Amino acid sequence: MRALTLDGPQNAPLRILCLGAHADDLEIGCGGAVLGLLRRRKAVEVDWVVFSAQGARAREARRGAALFLKGARRTRITIGRFRDGFFPYEGARIKQVFEQLKRRPAPDLVFTHCRDDRHQDHRVVSDLTWQTFRNHCILEYEVSKFDGDLGTPNVFVPLDRATSARKVASIHAAFSSQRGRPWFTPETFMALMRLRGVECRAPLGLAEAFHARKLVLKS
Ligand SMILES: [Zn+2]
Repeated sequence: MRALTLDGPQNAPLRILCLGAHADDLEIGCGGAVLGLLRRRKAVEVDWVVFSAQGARAREARRGAALFLKGARRTRITIGRFRDGFFPYEGARIKQVFEQLKRRPAPDLVFTHCRDDRHQDHRVVSDLTWQTFRNHCILEYEVSKFDGDLGTPNVFVPLDRATSARKVASIHAAFSSQRGRPWFTPETFMALMRLRGVECRAPLGLAEAFHARKLVLKS
């Protein structure tokens, strides 16, 4: 299948907005795609927003952003302190953050949680993304979890082995508090990238996958 590339104004930076409910969501969901974009594109500006991370988790979130955003022309890191697990009950305050994000320069690409994600915090971020960004390219990333909610994604970003390995190594370097969790292993992250690589016939067998509700192509 012929791969499409992101279009954009000549001589203008590519602006990416990355939205994650918790520390490590973005790195797991779209870390490989972000690493790839930063490697291929000369000028990338990244707004990186983690809504819930406090104390040690906030430090981990900043460490994750630093590892994944090397080479960006500009980064703006926002770490929120909303209560983990309670996003549906903090909705008004979280929506205010989205209202502030809307006033920033319009992003060319938005990464957010999947609409059908079974984690309540993830769903709130996804819903508010669509409520806020009404004329934007939005890709919803996936996070494997106990709930077993992975669907059938329809956009694939093939990754080379070096990028995939860097993604996994950076996740483990940044989020040391998660290392004791049974799901937090290199095999978990590599397995999903391998599966998505099979589904898109990635040349090197590895990919990240996303849900796109709508895309606009040039005729
Ligand atoms: Zn999460």
